[in-house]
Amino acid sequence: MTQDAPPRDLGDLAERFRGIVGAEHVITHEQQLATYESDGLLQYAVTPGAVVLPASAQEVAGVVRACHERATPWVARGAGSGLSGGALPVADGVLIALTRMRSIRHVDLDNGRVLVEPGVTNIAVSQAVGPTHFYPPDPSSQIVCTIGGNVAENSGGAHCFKYGFTTNYVTGLELVLADGSQLTLGGPELDHPGLDLIGAFVGSEGTLGIATGIWLRVVPKPESVRTLVAFFGSTVKAGEVVSEIVSGGIVPGAIEMMDNLSIRAAEGATGAGYPTDAGAALVVELDGSEAECAARFEQVVEICEGAGADSVRVAKDDAERELIWRARKAAFAAMGRIAPNYYVQDSVIPRTRLADVLGQIEELAAEHELQVANVFHAGDGNLHPLVCYDGSVPDQAERAEKLAGLIVKVCVDAGGSITGEHGVGVDKKRYMPSMFDEPDLSAFQRLRCAFDPEQRANPGKVMPAPRLCGEVPGPYRRHPLEQAGVAERF
Ligand SMILES: Cc1cc2nc3c(=O)[nH]c(=O)nc-3n(C[C@H](O)[C@H](O)[C@H](O)COP(=O)(O)OP(=O)(O)OC[C@H]3O[C@@H](n4cnc5c(N)ncnc54)[C@H](O)[C@@H]3O)c2cc1C
Repeated sequence: MTQDAPPRDLGDLAERFRGIVGAEHVITHEQQLATYESDGLLQYAVTPGAVVLPASAQEVAGVVRACHERATPWVARGAGSGLSGGALPVADGVLIALTRMRSIRHVDLDNGRVLVEPGVTNIAVSQAVGPTHFYPPDPSSQIVCTIGGNVAENSGGAHCFKYGFTTNYVTGLELVLADGSQLTLGGPELDHPGLDLIGAFVGSEGTLGIATGIWLRVVPKPESVRTLVAFFGSTVKAGEVVSEIVSGGIVPGAIEMMDNLSIRAAEGATGAGYPTDAGAALVVELDGSEAECAARFEQVVEICEGAGADSVRVAKDDAERELIWRARKAAFAAMGRIAPNYYVQDSVIPRTRLADVLGQIEELAAEHELQVANVFHAGDGNLHPLVCYDGSVPDQAERAEKLAGLIVKVCVDAGGSITGEHGVGVDKKRYMPSMFDEPDLSAFQRLRCAFDPEQRANPGKVMPAPRLCGEVPGPYRRHPLEQAGVAERF
């Protein structure tokens, strides 16, 4: 899947960049560029023409303006931990890496707000507002991934079932648009009149501009947190328990599931004490007031035991809680113990379809003679099937990719979505038509063109096929709104 092509000679652009950010922050040497050729989805690799590392919004604006004047495409990059090829460079373009912009510019705990630069890591926000407050959206990659990347992907994490996703925490954005102009949307206030352009920008995957300043909401830490891990004979059984807990009116801070393959991999890597013969592990965490937590926690233990859990392990202290989570958070990285390579999917299904969909995934895996590990945010129905393969065996990578595509289809057919939190990027754009009709895609495109008419910001991502503003692939069909005379194309 490598899309390597010789990088374009950017002419005098590199020299202009040196004048803006300093010579040491412009990379053009072939070997150094290789560091940036992929994000976390290593199946794709493209060497950019140059990498520029600005240190301020002014520098970002200068770099983007220079690209605009030379009609050169560019891609923003945070930590490069994305799993959909969102930060994959374009061969004839510039990669704008934001990792030097790491200041936390303002902390206002009384009002629960922080203003951060885009290169600040997710975990650094919670560290900056602790011990009294925290920033709830917590991707497993939180030690490295940046808030700019989180905003672009609308990232989630284990605690999003109760607390919501990135989009629920961004109150303001300072942006650089594709022509190099600067724009501020919102601020520390919670709500603003007019169109929700912040909502449009969050999750736009670097296609609408670059976030250079981000106002975030942070919240007080709950008085009490209680965590358990329950082990079941099968994911079907554990899936039923998830439904029972949620339909019982309990809203856990987190409710995560791992199947046997991921338990074995994670236990091998962490020694957290998960039984390697368990069919499924369910990590449940409740938080809130002391009294509410205690009562609800008893209820969860009863539900797990009543449903025939093989064992229920309750964290006695912070150290044991951390150990329980370590296994869950290590699951992706531990897949190397199962196979040299894996292909991660990130689909969403209605929670009530968990057992059925997991069964279908198992059948497909057997049919394709590959192993699929499942580790996921069970409360949200956000599956992360990890299709394991050995890239050195002829044909296995292709089979893994095909199987991953079939899993997406199963999820969409079950009433779900092609992505929960990892974004569409380059990897999932081919699946967009399975969820969206042409008028929907056209509406996305028109919004994008309002921000970036020449489509220089992260071209070739998200939309299923490259297209110009207003262009519709295939025979033109009038949108129902056009037919009704309510709207027209431009
Ligand atoms: C082991 C592992 C576990 C993960 N777990 C989770 C998880 O639990 N939940 C989850 O949601 N994700 C998870 N991810 C995926 C990834 O970490 C997130 O998508 C994260 O938000 C990406 O941040 P980044 O800084 O690495 O962004 P990058 O990968 O560098 O970029 C991602 C996208 O954001 C755009 N972008 C970056 N910065 C900006 C900016 N300032 N302005 C505009 N656009 C920008 C890029 O162009 C690209 O489209 C995981 C990844 C790994 C490797």
